[in-house]
Amino acid sequence: MTVPPGSMIGIVGGGQLGRMLAMAAAQLGYKCHILDPHERPPAADVAAAFTRAPYDDRAALETFAAHVDVATYEFENLPAEQLGVLGGKLRPGLKSLAVAQDRAEEKTFIETTGARVAAWRAVQSLEQVNAAVAALGVPIVLKTRRYGYDGKGQAWIRSPEEAGDAWDAIGHEPAVAEAGVDFDAEFSVVVARWANGRTSFWDSPDNVHRDGILRTSTVPCSAAVAPHVEQARAAAAGIAEALGHVGVLTVEFFASAGGPVVNEIAPRVHNSGHWTIEGAVTSQFEQHIRAICDLPPGSTALAAASVTMENLIGEEVHGWEGLLADPQAHLHIYGKGEARPGRKMGHVTRVVMP
Ligand code: AMP
Repeated sequence: MTVPPGSMIGIVGGGQLGRMLAMAAAQLGYKCHILDPHERPPAADVAAAFTRAPYDDRAALETFAAHVDVATYEFENLPAEQLGVLGGKLRPGLKSLAVAQDRAEEKTFIETTGARVAAWRAVQSLEQVNAAVAALGVPIVLKTRRYGYDGKGQAWIRSPEEAGDAWDAIGHEPAVAEAGVDFDAEFSVVVARWANGRTSFWDSPDNVHRDGILRTSTVPCSAAVAPHVEQARAAAAGIAEALGHVGVLTVEFFASAGGPVVNEIAPRVHNSGHWTIEGAVTSQFEQHIRAICDLPPGSTALAAASVTMENLIGEEVHGWEGLLADPQAHLHIYGKGEARPGRKMGHVTRVVMP
């Protein structure tokens, strides 16, 4: 079902991803309606309509559903049951949401598609953490099953004696214990999938993280990543297919000696795809809108010889004047309030022409 330009697109979640989706949608002549519990979320500044409501407010979701022609989400920690009121208007659908919001469900699901994940165990007690350490060895990373992002809800166990501290650090929440992967590099596959099964991929960037937060994404990828891309794309396409996913899906990988290992999936546009705004013919945001509205795909070809996206975290955003002094730099500031440590406030993309 094609949703033509002029229609209203609902976006659940009003952060920077919602903001960049709304900007891409506006370019194609759509209007966006943002639903978010915060007072003035970044996406509301650039959207036609904004409803301030908690994500589990059934009445608000029903009204929202009645006002939009199609709906999407910009993050996955949403109550799948309540979002059910959006019915067939929700793209991607509830399955993508449900699988991606619980790390144990996610890993089990990925394994059923034949893709590789690090050895792992579900844990909900210190005894089970100790058993996982005995079975998997160290290092191990504990990650809460739900509500983790940007390295939050994670604690490393580098020797068996650290198990108790790590269990305390994640607040005794149900978690996965995951073997540390010895990787040469990290990269991601961002894929867009249409309802008819068609897919399109961008170049895979090398992603560099610090303290669990993405710092930079660079294309073309390094020699450490390049040999893994084909297999990783096949894995990502298999995951998208098995989810019946419509829209953009991101799969983060470790490039390890034994081949690509899936770290995690995000059923949405992703920070490691921000470079596509200036660095590709069609951005991940525009392609997501095209896919959920069933418009033809845009080209995902590189529009430059090389591209680097650098996140502006916390107070780094206050350096905007210096960043703008470089005429090649594309500066994106998300319009968030306080520049708290660890908070993604913006990004800068540098494009090198051939
Ligand atoms: P995540 O929030 O799961 O994406 O983890 C944030 C970052 O922590 C990753 O991008 C890696 O740099 C690191 N990390 C997470 N899990 C593992 C693992 N199993 N082995 C090695 N490094 C990891």
